[in-house]
Amino acid sequence: MSTNDLANYINGQWVVPDTTDLLEVTNPATLEQLARVPLSVAGEVERAVEAASAAFVEWRRVPANERVRYLFRLRELLETHFDDLAQTITQECGKTLAESRGEMRRAVENVEVACGIPILMQGYNSEDIARGVDEIMIRQPLGVTAIICPFNFPGMIPFWFMPYAIACGNTCIVKPSEKVPLTMRKIFELIDQLDLPPGVLNLVNGAKDVVDAILDHPAIRAVSFVGSSPVARYVYSRAAANGKRAQCQGGAKNPVIVLPDANLDTTTRIMADSAFGCAGQRCLAASVAITVGEARHSFTEAIATAAESRVVGYGLDPGVEMGTVISAESKARIEKLIQRGAEEGAKVLVDGRRPQIPGYEQGHFVRPTILQDVPPTGEIAQTEIFGPVLGLIHLDTIEEAIALVNRGQYGNMACLFTSSGAAARKFRYEVEAGNIGINIGVAAPMAFFPFSGWKESFFGDLHGQGHHAVEFFTQTKVVVERWFQEWSRTF
Ligand code: NAD
Repeated sequence: MSTNDLANYINGQWVVPDTTDLLEVTNPATLEQLARVPLSVAGEVERAVEAASAAFVEWRRVPANERVRYLFRLRELLETHFDDLAQTITQECGKTLAESRGEMRRAVENVEVACGIPILMQGYNSEDIARGVDEIMIRQPLGVTAIICPFNFPGMIPFWFMPYAIACGNTCIVKPSEKVPLTMRKIFELIDQLDLPPGVLNLVNGAKDVVDAILDHPAIRAVSFVGSSPVARYVYSRAAANGKRAQCQGGAKNPVIVLPDANLDTTTRIMADSAFGCAGQRCLAASVAITVGEARHSFTEAIATAAESRVVGYGLDPGVEMGTVISAESKARIEKLIQRGAEEGAKVLVDGRRPQIPGYEQGHFVRPTILQDVPPTGEIAQTEIFGPVLGLIHLDTIEEAIALVNRGQYGNMACLFTSSGAAARKFRYEVEAGNIGINIGVAAPMAFFPFSGWKESFFGDLHGQGHHAVEFFTQTKVVVERWFQEWSRTF
């Protein structure tokens, strides 16, 4: 064990896990080794569940307004350490500092919304449903919950769930992505300063073994997962088979339709940010642009110019507009998919493969790439690339475009660029996706709205954030009471 090795946080203590299996965490731009993350085994999950189960007994009895006071303090600590956290995200994840700051802002917003739990968690009641009979519905916490995270938003995604889970009276175990465990380590150093009762929040580092131990542990009542669709489906099935609640957000292939009446400059700027922001490693990234009618030529030319002029580099350097992808494997996979697109008949209009970024020659960079005339039914039109690659498809009518969107297997986000209200309404009404953007490129719901997602992009019923989170992290109890006035003694 070296000082660079990360620990777990269980029962209010930093605990060195019982494993010699350690994975290197490197900066994807500089390849500097940042830390080693332990791949914990089932025994560590057992320890965390024991702590979280014991803590739940008293934590659920702490009044909701007292529980959220811990969140008020956490919010202050997150604000105080905001820049340091953003910098850590950039160092381990590769995105730009501005993107990391945006990510942390949404994390803080979720803490703020969860501070409203004393009201959000209220049930409802009806008096005199029959003579002398009242009916009330109360919300109670579930018990121990677990959160399993992907690599692309190490600071934000845990906050789609964690503040709601504990504010509702649950205890919680967080498993960060083993690719980016440092941000959560820093956040737990702040959590350690909250004086939360030990066991309310726990951190277990690791990979598949930890996930499987979570899914099989009988005392864990609910699992929140975000990651790729095959793993989301697996987590959902195994959690459900073991009687747990599960909300599992999966991958995406987000289509954007550009109509001829869209404002070209605004559309191009927003689309470039959507497709190339976070180097395309965003579940809400635009991945396919379907131009309709005359939009074809003007938009193709404009987006190609935007792609070519994007400033790519190390996310901590000033002026950089796009950082790295997460790993050498990811870079190789993206470059292979670009090649596949060419083999399928698409033209590589802007080719971002194998760029040389001065000073960062070994970094995992792929420059913005545009594939023109992607065959609508081919692999590239359907597969999540998760890199800065935008495919262009041309169709003649909005009806054809919506039909193509709805044939896709995913349903995370769909966007439309237009100046027609009628077209916007038709799109919003007919399109099969959970997050819709109209003249918006990344239709990310604010913290007080649920993060929707349909089809292969979501497995479950209740999504993260907002009211859905409150419903997910509570179970309802309906009480029917009869009290006749004539039964009371006169005092
Ligand atoms: P991933 O599925 O590889 O990993 C996600 C988590 O699952 C990690 O914690 C990992 O340790 C664990 N895991 C990986 N393989 C596993 C297996 N076989 N069994 C059990 N657990 C396993 O995802 P990723 O590469 O970290 O993240 C990128 C993916 O996440 C993309 O597909 C992206 O679209 C998706 N994503 C979706 C949303 C959303 O809101 N829908 C948000 C962010 C990311």
